[in-house]
Amino acid sequence: MYSNPMGLLRQKAAKGHVVHAYLFLGSSDLIKNANQLAMALNCMDLNADGNACGVCISCYKITTGSHPDIYTLKPDGSSMKIQQVREMQKHLAYKIYEGKYKVIILEEADKLTLQGANSLLKILEEPMPQTVFILLAASQREIPDTIISRCQRIYFGEEAGQHDCLENIKILEDVFSEDLERTLSLIEKLEREDKEHLKQRINGLMVLIRDLLVLKSTKEDKLINISHLSNSSLEKSAVSHDELVKILEKLYESLKDLDSNANKRLLLENLFLTIKRISQ
Ligand SMILES: [Zn+2]
Repeated sequence: MYSNPMGLLRQKAAKGHVVHAYLFLGSSDLIKNANQLAMALNCMDLNADGNACGVCISCYKITTGSHPDIYTLKPDGSSMKIQQVREMQKHLAYKIYEGKYKVIILEEADKLTLQGANSLLKILEEPMPQTVFILLAASQREIPDTIISRCQRIYFGEEAGQHDCLENIKILEDVFSEDLERTLSLIEKLEREDKEHLKQRINGLMVLIRDLLVLKSTKEDKLINISHLSNSSLEKSAVSHDELVKILEKLYESLKDLDSNANKRLLLENLFLTIKRISQ
């Protein structure tokens, strides 16, 4: 169910939809994925899906760590220090040598010292053209909020599944609650997500509703999201089996409407206010 986010990222990169800072979070393959994005941004022979060819001179140099426009920063000992950030900043002043994008990869970005983080923040606050930062960390816990808020967060591996699941549970809790304000601010927040993410989100909500249906009817304990679900208020909600089926149908309908270029705001209002009405 939870696909690797790299596919979507590469497709977007191929269309030139690139943000200036990403934060890759999770426990697996972060460096490999960062290199893949750097390749997709600089490959000279991208295929239709936005995949780097892997063999052009740019891909070759990135794979071998010798591309002059890709700059990697690693902790020096136990931390990443302000001097290192300053060194990197010097590199930013150079023109792009041969790539399309300058890519700065910060491995273990959670090991930035406070001074280092402040210095990085100043750099992130003034986005430079054709320059992309990719911060990597197992967890965002040690990264200052000010930096997190400048980055698009991408979750990998188990982290991705868990993160999505918990977010989706939170969404349903907001919608099932009696509080209209919570639902309205949720709609406002989701409206800012792009269509591909919304589709994934709606898909995730459908999985969750299916799990709830099974839980209601069989008490089955082998569900995809079971451990998270049983810790949430959803399991105890009074929404009936028939109501859950209606909600599932409504989600499916919205998924199709999203494909046919419906107005996002209207669609989200219609979807979540309908679910709210069904669940009350
Ligand atoms: Zn290539």
